Amino acid sequence: MIDEGRGENSLMTDSIHLETLAVRAGQRRSQFGEHAEALYLTSSFVFANAAQAAARFSGDEEGMVYARFSNPTVAMMQDRLAALEGAEACIATASGMAAILSTVMALLKTGDHIVASRSIFGASQQLFGTILPRFGIETSFVAGTGNESFAAAIKDNTRLIFIESPSNPLTEVFDIAALAALARDRGVLLAVDNCFCSPILQRPLSLGADLVIHSATKYLDGQGRVLGGAVCARKELTDEVFKFLRTAGPTISPFNAWVILKGLETLNIRMKAQCENAFDLARRLERNPRVARVFYPWLPSHPQHALARQQQSAGGAIVSFEVKGGRQDAWRVVDNCRLLSITANLGDVKTTITHPASTTHGRISAAARAEAGIGEGLLRVAVGLESVEDIESDLLRGLC
Ligand SMILES: *Cc1c(COP(=O)(O)O)cnc(C)c1O
Repeated sequence: MIDEGRGENSLMTDSIHLETLAVRAGQRRSQFGEHAEALYLTSSFVFANAAQAAARFSGDEEGMVYARFSNPTVAMMQDRLAALEGAEACIATASGMAAILSTVMALLKTGDHIVASRSIFGASQQLFGTILPRFGIETSFVAGTGNESFAAAIKDNTRLIFIESPSNPLTEVFDIAALAALARDRGVLLAVDNCFCSPILQRPLSLGADLVIHSATKYLDGQGRVLGGAVCARKELTDEVFKFLRTAGPTISPFNAWVILKGLETLNIRMKAQCENAFDLARRLERNPRVARVFYPWLPSHPQHALARQQQSAGGAIVSFEVKGGRQDAWRVVDNCRLLSITANLGDVKTTITHPASTTHGRISAAARAEAGIGEGLLRVAVGLESVEDIESDLLRGLC
């Protein structure tokens, strides 16, 4: 059914640049020769005869079977993202959380142990901390970014180390190469949630990580339209994730995969422009007398500035800052925004603002929040593509 045309898949070689992969990798054309990638809205596929049906089901013949586990649009998205991450393979999922759940279900079993950074996405914390223990998988949460703390938390039954870098909302940076070496040494897998950087800024597999996880809902879509997720890794690992997905069904919709596939085409230019805006905004905020502290990896004042410069190609588009005073002062900034969207979402071309202590981190105790460094005056801005002048003016209205 699918004519590989001039073999765009063969583009996935080391000599092709990221910019080219973003718009070309993974494309397949049908017999109609469409220029843009087609959206295949079909739940199943027909076979030429009984023998072909049998061969497709057994896996002896490659090809599409049923959309719970195969669809050409989804395959294009997976191949394009794999090419960008420098991964052997990619499995797309219904959401970022579905990607994390599928990874754990595919690679871990009862009695296994996870070492996770404490500074991970709230739902990931909930999954590891409250749901997995019911199935006999325990997690030790590590505070801070010290490699020694991760080493100390590894037990005989540890199977996975799970981190996010930079973290949300304080943009802590984790040493991916060092943690990958530790994981290799101790026979443990390292998974990196690469949501904040995307493959444009950081490629964890090239630093030695085993798995890259994405919430494609964020920068990969980039325009706040659909949910999606992905796991990128060597084929031996993604084959296991595929077996779980094929059976359990946390599958991405072909429509969502198509939106994300097209989103990947502009990822490179969006990321670069949003990072430039974010760096500019971070420097402006650092000069503002009403701001106590700015958290942004590209600022020399960031505690892991040197490490960030080593493993990322730009600082990212998330800027957090502590307003002098407390919750009232932070809320005044939020409430005076006319342009910025008050929402916890991020990765959009439209700038968003949130007060972590009362939203994304509102369910954890005040003591735990304080210990994690998430103060009452902290605001997180996910910088988009508007003029930085307009973004700053919007924030200044309440910074008084
Ligand atoms: C949003 C997010 C997730 C979860 O992704 P969904 O697509 O919302 O399921 C996981 N990790 C990080 C860092 C996120 O920001």
